[in-house]
Amino acid sequence: MTSKRLREASMPILFSSCYQRLEYPAAAEDIIPQKLWQYVRTLHLKCVCRPLRAFPHTVYDDAHPPTDPVVCGAFHRWLTDVAVRKMPRLTEVVFDNCKYIPVHGLPWRTVRAMLTIPNLHHFAIASLRICPTADDTVEWGDSGLQPSAALSSFRYWVRDPTPTRSFPAEERGLDTVVRAFHASLETLDLPSEPAPIQLMCSLSWPRLRELRLRGLRWTTPSTPIVSLFACMPHLRTLVLQLYEPEHVDARAVWPRGFSATYPWPELEYLSISHPDADDDIYAHLPPTLRGLALRSWPHFCVQIKNDNEYPPRDLRWSFPMANASSILRILQRCGTPDLRTLELEYEVDEPGVDAELLQYVAASFPRLRTLELHRYRNGDPVVPTAEIARYLSPLAELAMLKLHLDFPGTPPPAFSPADQRRFCNSKALAAYDVTLRSTAATFASALTYTSPSLREIWVLRYVAYRGPMWADFSVIRADGGAPGAAEVRVQRQDGRFYMSRT
Ligand SMILES: [Zn+2]
Repeated sequence: MTSKRLREASMPILFSSCYQRLEYPAAAEDIIPQKLWQYVRTLHLKCVCRPLRAFPHTVYDDAHPPTDPVVCGAFHRWLTDVAVRKMPRLTEVVFDNCKYIPVHGLPWRTVRAMLTIPNLHHFAIASLRICPTADDTVEWGDSGLQPSAALSSFRYWVRDPTPTRSFPAEERGLDTVVRAFHASLETLDLPSEPAPIQLMCSLSWPRLRELRLRGLRWTTPSTPIVSLFACMPHLRTLVLQLYEPEHVDARAVWPRGFSATYPWPELEYLSISHPDADDDIYAHLPPTLRGLALRSWPHFCVQIKNDNEYPPRDLRWSFPMANASSILRILQRCGTPDLRTLELEYEVDEPGVDAELLQYVAASFPRLRTLELHRYRNGDPVVPTAEIARYLSPLAELAMLKLHLDFPGTPPPAFSPADQRRFCNSKALAAYDVTLRSTAATFASALTYTSPSLREIWVLRYVAYRGPMWADFSVIRADGGAPGAAEVRVQRQDGRFYMSRT
């Protein structure tokens, strides 16, 4: 009896979050047993469809448009039309895909079915396209999709690398979602190409706290972002991971001389790819800001992986990497001494500026707890590891340090079986392991006494078939050790992925 009661009492906890992989053709009996439906709060569904005619690594561009758009058939109607409506506690649905298929996704019918679940708060679609082809079976427009006060988070993430093009039906689907839920959404995460930018800037967003856009920068509307998204006055997180069309310079969020009023007084985190040193946004950042990321997008270390993985014609982004001088100019304009997180990616340029930049970071942002530094040496054969560590040593509250110092001889990513064998047998791999360890030890020694909170040092490396990942080192202090004394224990974490989505 006791075990039965315990089992019944634990059911709502054990089955509150359900994860299911579904194959095509899907069958109703594959779906979560009906007796468990009453407990499900989060439903994570993953299709295991494989590409049909498309080669897995095919990346389409304008010269090679997709000829085989695939509508996913793994999510059975019994699940999307019946089962989810008998899950009274369901508040979160996530759709995902196991395999990389460039053009593969959900029909509008499935998307709409999820968006009409009563009390759905969070809806996410990852690695699947919305409406990759027209769905003639469904009326557009309202089509039963009514504004909801419940839906607070809509995330649509297209896997990187991906075709940058969008589909007309996809654009129409996002247009419908934005019109229906702009008043309730607190989080909106979209690829930029199909995002209805013109519509978004014409609506009110009374609850929006987080906006993330990634992809090719739109050309119309041409209004600067500081004005375009002034209709989102409560933003706390603004992530603009945008790359420019070829031969177009980075565009400022707030161009010099443009007449505007700063619109986001509660902003806590700002991420800008390809920053412009003349952008006036940096001089207006509020004291609430706690996190700042000045990173290229896609992150350059991910691009290196892509360059090894894909044919040259498929994926090329054209933009200059920020240099140390421009990053220094930007940071000197920021009146945000209470930053807790800073992410920088730059290339060394003028002699001495790199040192000035790192010393400025340590002196001007003394409350940093996390620093992620991607420093590209611009052909210099020497990486001054000890000097960099010394420049950063005044950061007394630092707890996490992530480093990519572009060491000469860094083993590149490898993706073919032949490359894999060469990679694994190479002396370069062993030598690089020594470099990783000595780098962590150097920084631990320089910072551990002045930065008593320092716990983790991560150093970037490439892993065959996976691309960039972090090697994790814990900082262990010797009891009663003299100032500067520290032991560094290596913890190899092959599963600690580099998160390029952030
Ligand atoms: Zn599928």
